[in-house]
Amino acid sequence: MISLVRKHILKIDPYEAGKPIEEVKRQLGLKEVIKLASNENPLGPSPKAVAAMKRSLSELNRYPDSSGFYLKRKLAKFLSLTPANIVLGNGSDELIDIIIKTFVEEDEHILTADHTFLEYKIIGSVKGRTVNCVPLKYFKYDLVALKKKIDRKTKLIFIANPNNPTGTYVTKYELEDFLKGLPHGVIVVLDEAYDAFIDVDDFPNSLSLIRNQNVIVLKTFSKAYGLAGVRLGYAVTRPEFAAYMEISRQPFNVNLLAQAAGMAALEDRAFLQKTRRTILEGKNYLYDNLKKLGLAYVPSVANFILIDVGKDGFEVFREMLKFGVIVRHMRQYGLKNYIRVTVGTKRENERFVKVLKKVL
Ligand SMILES: *Cc1c(COP(=O)(O)O)cnc(C)c1O
Repeated sequence: MISLVRKHILKIDPYEAGKPIEEVKRQLGLKEVIKLASNENPLGPSPKAVAAMKRSLSELNRYPDSSGFYLKRKLAKFLSLTPANIVLGNGSDELIDIIIKTFVEEDEHILTADHTFLEYKIIGSVKGRTVNCVPLKYFKYDLVALKKKIDRKTKLIFIANPNNPTGTYVTKYELEDFLKGLPHGVIVVLDEAYDAFIDVDDFPNSLSLIRNQNVIVLKTFSKAYGLAGVRLGYAVTRPEFAAYMEISRQPFNVNLLAQAAGMAALEDRAFLQKTRRTILEGKNYLYDNLKKLGLAYVPSVANFILIDVGKDGFEVFREMLKFGVIVRHMRQYGLKNYIRVTVGTKRENERFVKVLKKVL
């Protein structure tokens, strides 16, 4: 039969999300399942955000504020910028989509790294754009190679910083060199989903770049604020760019609960602190135990660790599932002998180590 689906869609390898807890319980008949697969916050959502959403429930007969006025105003203050610098999205995933729609002509190309956030490639391909990739160097974005790869067709460059799934980052010096002399027709997207976990001194101050460079910075409430389920992210860029992205988005892309949650989460400093502490401590615990197991891993500035398990990571993932521990296999990322584990609570990390030991 002739397919009615557009040709470029037929070729796409769909996004495989981390397995949901409920699904594993149902399929394997398990009672106690932990998920360390999607870099979510193990402490739950920000309590202030939960309270704010509860207060908003009675307004759900109304459409959300299409302009996101109050949330943008609060974010602008938080970032020391203006609301005109900000575009809200239904998660930063949607902003990736909006950016491509707004800036990349059908015959222009997107550039990113081989082993990075899959959505750049998938969303770009769904939109029929060509996505070119450059290999990582020692698990890090190789900005020198990336710059060499730029040609007349290149319009958009995605850099996940820190990178997912490796947890590495590009320094402010590397980024400065990269941006110096970049062709004027190229836009650079810095996706900083994990910025809240950073504890190094040479991480770029990306917001200082948006005034004079073609830079768009992406942020999300999904990770450190624990709000992956409400879908809220934002882009920060020059007002001219932001205005056209606003035109390209759907009018009610950010729902009413997400707007309420975002405003409250920004004020939940205590929760953010506790999250940071939990991740830092958990990461050190995991490093220690991986060393004891003789496993190589990539040191991470984010809330997850890429681990070389020395054999097929998909098999390790499947075996761990049977013991109720969900990690991420890296098959779709092309990293065969690896798994990625999200740092959890103390108890979750202990259980992960115990099960990993058993499975190996
Ligand atoms: C998790 C993640 C996101 C967040 O996506 P949302 O749509 O905001 O949940 C964005 N970029 C990277 C690199 C991520 O790992």
